[in-house]
Amino acid sequence: MDGWVVIGSFILMCGAGFLANYKNRRIWLWMVLTFLFGFFALIPLAVMKKVRDEADFKKCSACGEEILAVAKVCKHCGTAQ
Ligand SMILES: [Zn+2]
Repeated sequence: MDGWVVIGSFILMCGAGFLANYKNRRIWLWMVLTFLFGFFALIPLAVMKKVRDEADFKKCSACGEEILAVAKVCKHCGTAQ
């Protein structure tokens, strides 16, 4: 019986790690929280918004608005980057 509890919490921790990774959160923090609080730790993680990766954005050289780093043309003013 105890074995299933260990396996169950291990699966939950893997799920938490996967979810934390997807949301750009600290994987180990959420795995430990899941280990301590079980399924309840997954609820705030599931509800939380994805953390923005700042490396994915840059400022437009013409208008200064924030655009995707991979953008060739500014979505705000249309200037080529
Ligand atoms: Zn622009």
